Amino acid sequence: MQEDKPRTGLRRAMHSVRFTVWIYFAIFIVSIVILMWITFIATLESNYRKRRNEDIDTVSEYIVSQISAGSLTGKRLYDLAYSYDMCLILQDRYGLTLYSYDVSPEHCLIHGASASELAEYRRLADENGIYRKENLGTDLITDNMLYVRSIKQGSTIGYLMINTSMEPLESTVGMIRAQLMQITIAMLILGFGISIFLSQLISTPIQRITLSAGKLGQGDHNVVFNGKGYNETEQLAQTLNFASEEITKIDTMRRDLMANISHDLRTPLTMVKAYAEMIRDLSGDDPVKRDEHLGIIIEESDRLAALVNDILDLTKLENGAEGLSLEEFDFSERIRSIMSRYTILAERDGYHFYVSVPEHTMIKADPIKFDQVIYNLINNAVNYSGEGKEIYVTAVKQEQGTEIAITDTGPGISKELLPLIFDRYYRAEKSKREVIGTGLGLSIVKQILIMHGYEFGVRSEEGTGSTFWFRVKEG
Ligand code: ADP
Repeated sequence: MQEDKPRTGLRRAMHSVRFTVWIYFAIFIVSIVILMWITFIATLESNYRKRRNEDIDTVSEYIVSQISAGSLTGKRLYDLAYSYDMCLILQDRYGLTLYSYDVSPEHCLIHGASASELAEYRRLADENGIYRKENLGTDLITDNMLYVRSIKQGSTIGYLMINTSMEPLESTVGMIRAQLMQITIAMLILGFGISIFLSQLISTPIQRITLSAGKLGQGDHNVVFNGKGYNETEQLAQTLNFASEEITKIDTMRRDLMANISHDLRTPLTMVKAYAEMIRDLSGDDPVKRDEHLGIIIEESDRLAALVNDILDLTKLENGAEGLSLEEFDFSERIRSIMSRYTILAERDGYHFYVSVPEHTMIKADPIKFDQVIYNLINNAVNYSGEGKEIYVTAVKQEQGTEIAITDTGPGISKELLPLIFDRYYRAEKSKREVIGTGLGLSIVKQILIMHGYEFGVRSEEGTGSTFWFRVKEG
């Protein structure tokens, strides 16, 4: 597998959230500006020409309606010419000019035209009713629009000639361009400013979290992640705070476990050594004493083995190194056979075991691990059964499966401790030294039940006792 090369300097900066946000925002703004300019350049001229044509139509219609109404005056024509910035000539049917207004600083096309040219315009208007021509050019005179209309009332009574230069286009375009330029500069400055602010806003909480994570990595468990800024980083910070708390908890538990294990290992080891020395120095020749001492050595060794086994079991289960080897078996049968092994305890130490399970119940599970669960729970019940020394093992068929429960009449577990009881290495303070154990038993139980997909839990009331239960699926 090829690993990514570590990013350094500029490359790293270019891959930062800050830079990425900034660059995308910048691209966005530049695109908008470009789009704005393209639209402006592409449409302004044609829009303007269209508008001028419409103006010409309006003026023409107005004049014709005034003529029909007989209310046209030179003053009105003059006002029209100047307010619309158009050259106007009104001729009678013989081509005699009645009114003529030249608004152009230089001569308009129609005012500079010869009599024959005007006659030609009239002829073209006669042919089509209205004659229009757009002369494209580069200066004020040549770039203009020509409109000639023959006015009819039955027959032709006169001619209206309108001519407008495109001169205003140039100045309008210039004005708009200047304005657009201002808008562009404002947008660029504002946009780049906002993008820098935005990228800062987005990256700051991330940087803060990264800094805290670095501290956590170096072993500072007191760091608090602060993701203030927006929801996602707040959630991330919350999750990390939770993770950090968990790490701290596990760390403390691990330290506790080390202390517990060391203590639990040291006690039997000291005993083994002491009794071995005693056999060597004193009781070696006394068979009764020797056997008694050897018995203690064996017992302590068993205790050591159990402890080491627990640690190994849990490690294997947690690493997932060991799968399940499922078999179909009669768990009622199995529970009864396990319980028979506790008769010694019943006889010797006065424990009472009450077993109530159905005749036969077949389940598919890993029998060895199933035994481990039952043993662990019963051993705990025995260890924590208190004065009552009563232990109930029941199996009750329910809708969702059969619930197997192990109940004791011991001191029970407080509400605060209940949620912790299945945690790795957890041991209630007061049970720390009184009862031999590692705090791993219930973690092993939990892992096995999870692997089987069984539901499980604990019901307990202080002073009354505890019930550890799990639900198996039949079949
Ligand atoms: P261990 O029994 O080796 O200490 P476990 O994981 O089996 O470890 O149990 C964890 C803790 O849960 C115990 O230390 C004890 O405080 C509590 N506990 C377990 N079973 C019972 C029970 N039946 N009644 C009361 N407390 C219990």
